[in-house]
Amino acid sequence: MKLPFVNFFGVLLLVLLLGGVACTYQVVKVVKPMIAPKEVVWKVGGVDYISATQLTKRLGAKVAETKGKTKSVTVTKGGATVQMTAEKDHLTYQSTHIFLQHPLKYQGSEVLVSENDVQNVLTPLLAPSLIPKKIAIPKTIVIDPGHGGKDPGATNNRLQLQEKNLVLAIALQLRTELSRRQYIVKMTREKDEFKELEDRPRVTGDVFISLHLNSSGTPNQSLGTEVHVLTRNQGSPGNAFNRWNTILGYLVVSRLVGVAQFRNRGLKMSNLAVLRNAMGPAILIELGFINHDIEAKKLADPAFQKKLVGGIANALDELKKVVIGCR
Ligand SMILES: [Zn+2]
Repeated sequence: MKLPFVNFFGVLLLVLLLGGVACTYQVVKVVKPMIAPKEVVWKVGGVDYISATQLTKRLGAKVAETKGKTKSVTVTKGGATVQMTAEKDHLTYQSTHIFLQHPLKYQGSEVLVSENDVQNVLTPLLAPSLIPKKIAIPKTIVIDPGHGGKDPGATNNRLQLQEKNLVLAIALQLRTELSRRQYIVKMTREKDEFKELEDRPRVTGDVFISLHLNSSGTPNQSLGTEVHVLTRNQGSPGNAFNRWNTILGYLVVSRLVGVAQFRNRGLKMSNLAVLRNAMGPAILIELGFINHDIEAKKLADPAFQKKLVGGIANALDELKKVVIGCR
């Protein structure tokens, strides 16, 4: 008997709801209380963004505007600093460029950062304790020397150098150093043999490190070290350790350039098969350019390789401290 009454209010509610949807349909700024109370989410090109000011509230950080031609802010937490400039494809964290999934935007008076990058880049860097997924304390490290056998990788014919041989030599030194520091080390190859890309991450461990050398189109042109982690977009969800990949990747690239005094080319996102099925945080390191003769000579020198190995091992020790601190 009460049905018509319910229907009347039901219809009224529906009209109000639709009205509400229609009202907010065209505007860019929407309130999304699901993420945090009173947090404003900006839709830009179908992507969710939040402002740097909101980000700082979420992470308990401080924000300050940086003077300059373009809109730029500095976010600080503890001793760590992130520099964000509108429309750039990367942010700068402690002097390292961290490339983003979506470029930073500028709306109203705010620099905006995508929700995806807040979760997968900024939270891991500035507030790792807020990462919901905890990981095992790194103990077993998988080292993957790139290429091998029929696949030489990049080459420098002037110096008679092949990527597959150099990365294997560096990997063997890394094994020795990590064993000395009480890690258990597994290798995807220990000699000059060919292994399929997809099979390499099937070697189980807490951390996966693939070692490679870079090569530019023109010899003796590009220099420096870069680290790659999986991209995270609709086409590729990354892997199960996206946020930890960021921490590991940042630590490795920054510590490597510190010991090698190589150019810091930053932390980049790439859709790489070798990282897709990793069983723990996973990175691919491009240690330097084999077709730049000055850099290649250093990369082929066992004493210099030892420095590189020390940088990677230091980064792993630091990762271990972060993991323990977040437990
Ligand atoms: Zn390679």
